[in-house]
Amino acid sequence: MSYVVSLTVCDSHYNVLKQHLFPGDGKEAAAMALCGRQSSLDRTRLLLREVHPVPYAICTRRETDSISWPVEWLDDLVDRAAAEDLSLVKFHSHPIDYRQFSSVDDRSDARLFPGIHALVDRDIPHASVVLLPDGSMFGRTVGPEGEFTPLATINMVGDDLAFWRPKAPRSLHHSTGVGRNTPAFGRAMSAELCQLSAAVVGCSGTGSIVVEQLARLGLGRLILIDPERVEVKNLNRIVNATWQDAIDGREKVEVARRAIAAVGLGTAVESHHGNLVDRKIVQAVANADLIFGCVDSAEARDVLNRISSQYLLPYFDVGVRIGALPDGTIDQIDGVIHYVKPAGASLLSRSAYRPSQVAADALRRANPALYDERRREKYIEGADEEMPAVISLNMTMASLVVNECLARLYRTRNQPNHHYAFQRVNLAEMEIETEPEGAPCPAFRPLVGRGDTEPLLDLPELSA
Ligand SMILES: [Zn+2]
Repeated sequence: MSYVVSLTVCDSHYNVLKQHLFPGDGKEAAAMALCGRQSSLDRTRLLLREVHPVPYAICTRRETDSISWPVEWLDDLVDRAAAEDLSLVKFHSHPIDYRQFSSVDDRSDARLFPGIHALVDRDIPHASVVLLPDGSMFGRTVGPEGEFTPLATINMVGDDLAFWRPKAPRSLHHSTGVGRNTPAFGRAMSAELCQLSAAVVGCSGTGSIVVEQLARLGLGRLILIDPERVEVKNLNRIVNATWQDAIDGREKVEVARRAIAAVGLGTAVESHHGNLVDRKIVQAVANADLIFGCVDSAEARDVLNRISSQYLLPYFDVGVRIGALPDGTIDQIDGVIHYVKPAGASLLSRSAYRPSQVAADALRRANPALYDERRREKYIEGADEEMPAVISLNMTMASLVVNECLARLYRTRNQPNHHYAFQRVNLAEMEIETEPEGAPCPAFRPLVGRGDTEPLLDLPELSA
């Protein structure tokens, strides 16, 4: 296996691990985890689905620098890994802050993992990970012959976002100092952002401005998705689009790609001219580190929420709503931002859309002519339809959603990030209302960490 392997953990599992691995007695503790996977050409990401703490009572030894427990305790988990095609990850703590694998670890991993590979009997990676007292992690895969390969990245997705890499200049995770000593907006931030990738779904009125910011912030890779072409009516709101683009009917993703290349900061771009509800495109989004949803379709937002849960990705949803009366008079102007984390509240549980809208949007995708007819009969909703001059509002919301991402990576705010799961900008009142993270969504909870499934996301239209 020569590909790069990473590990992603959501915050609810991370908190269980931290609590069990550091019980307060200064001795090592251990846990096993079952993981789904996301596989692409360039990497496999292990996605933590279930944590199984090794009970302290069954350990035959627990010291400050070593731990052992009866290997039979693993039997059921190995059976499940084999039956359900899941990877196994062993976690243990180094309470003395030893920042590498010890020789005891080497011997123990080289003994344990070949057996796991033989019993699971699938060509899939399994890994061993150490949790340190400051909350950071490092790890390695252990192959069928007991060979070690460092994990390229371990990241935690929750109210805060943390990425740990071997030999990183510094950690993105800050366990102290809310609002203080932040590397945000400095050189360290740029050095780290170039290692991240973001999928921007919707590259029109709001999305094109999000793309502009992410490119200039120096993100390493942008994955752009939009099914439409530039038209004259879009020219008042898509940055970098020209009259000639509209005449030529150029793809919106192509306009964004051209602009990013012209800036010359070296951002890699992968563009997809197509609808999100497409196997290849869902796989491309799942391969990002961050998702920005700049769409007004309930179906697309539902799919992005599924991707977020199933592939453990942070999802930033931004929307601009202009309500117009039947005579065309505008009576409501506001912008909303949702932050969605896996195993948290969802757009569905926050009533950001209704299931009936998802069905209607699916119809719209399948039958655009019928949708257009209905839209003309109704009010205008969404940022990217045939609206007048909304670029100033779009720019405000696009800036806020990018700042939202930076706040979660770098804790730029004085209050903890879970206070800001939802924001509504009301230009009529000159107010930003915020709401804290709510109860986990029961509908999306079972999807957490499932990774690649067949059909993809359990949606028949995404089958191979
Ligand atoms: Zn160790």
